[in-house]
Amino acid sequence: MFTARAPSRLLRPVIGSVHRTISTFTLPTSCPSCKAALASSVPACLKCGTISTVPVDVNNYSLLGIPYEPHKFALDEADLQKRFRRAQAACHPDVWTAKGEGKKDVAQDLSSRVNDAYKRLRDPLSRLNYLLELNGVALEATDKLEDEAFLMKILSLRDDIDEATEREDVEATLGETQENIENALEEVTKHVSEGNWAAAKSASVRLKYLEGVRAAGKEWIQENE
Ligand SMILES: [Zn+2]
Repeated sequence: MFTARAPSRLLRPVIGSVHRTISTFTLPTSCPSCKAALASSVPACLKCGTISTVPVDVNNYSLLGIPYEPHKFALDEADLQKRFRRAQAACHPDVWTAKGEGKKDVAQDLSSRVNDAYKRLRDPLSRLNYLLELNGVALEATDKLEDEAFLMKILSLRDDIDEATEREDVEATLGETQENIENALEEVTKHVSEGNWAAAKSASVRLKYLEGVRAAGKEWIQENE
């Protein structure tokens, strides 16, 4: 069994008066038992059959071997997928079933954490929400749009979809929505890189509403096919 090394670095972002500590554990890159380089970010060595759990406070970035700094929000999705697949292959429960007592359970646990980490980081809005959570400003279901002009825009986009009779009109609205989503994501990238969590949170509320418009547009298209 092996465990994560001590935190390599402690980050202390300041949000208002809330001080939070984000641990950035470094998981081992080589097997402590046979010393072979590990095939993925998770502590599972198929060469000698050594597998171990990962401490609960290891964040999703570390779990998939993605640096949390300096680009927390803008990550390479192809790279993320590659890391996910490698980690998943290394700790797949079926592979560990025959490798000894209890190892399948450890693999099962690692595997489900890897799945969750991938799900949370893959989609930009979900990744953003995860970052907000990590930094103590989690998005609540009750968070509402405070920007009145933006709210009017959302209502007008929703009206366009509700009242549409032609598919091309809905597609035009979806195109406009997508542009707005991309702008909001750009804003978020900037706020997150500057550590401006309050602004990142406002932008994520806007994103949530835009995603709602997008979902409504897609639903319209499905129902009218
Ligand atoms: Zn090994």
